[in-house]
Amino acid sequence: MRDDLCSVCNSKMNLGLQSWHWECARCKYEKSTLSQAINETLAHEKINELSREKGLKSIRVENFNKLLKSIKALGKKPAIFWMWGVLMAGL
Ligand SMILES: [Zn+2]
Repeated sequence: MRDDLCSVCNSKMNLGLQSWHWECARCKYEKSTLSQAINETLAHEKINELSREKGLKSIRVENFNKLLKSIKALGKKPAIFWMWGVLMAGL
C-alpha cells in the first residue's frame, strides 16, 4: 500500500504534523506510518497503565457522551444504552 494514497478515497495524501502523519486533502482521512506494537510486551512495559487509564478516563467519558447525544438525536434507543452502562462500570 502506498503511503501517499488515501485508503478511503484513493486521493493523494499529504504529510501532516509529523513525518509519520498523513492527511488526505480530499476526504480529511488521517493515518500514520508508525509500526503497530500493541500486542508486544516491551511496548506495555514502557507505559504506566494506571496513569494512562487516569489520563484517558475523562476523554473517554466525554466521547461516549457525544456519541450518545448523536444517537439520541437520531431517535435510536436500544442496545447502545445497555452497552454504555457496561462501559461506564468498567471505567
Ligand atoms: Zn481520502
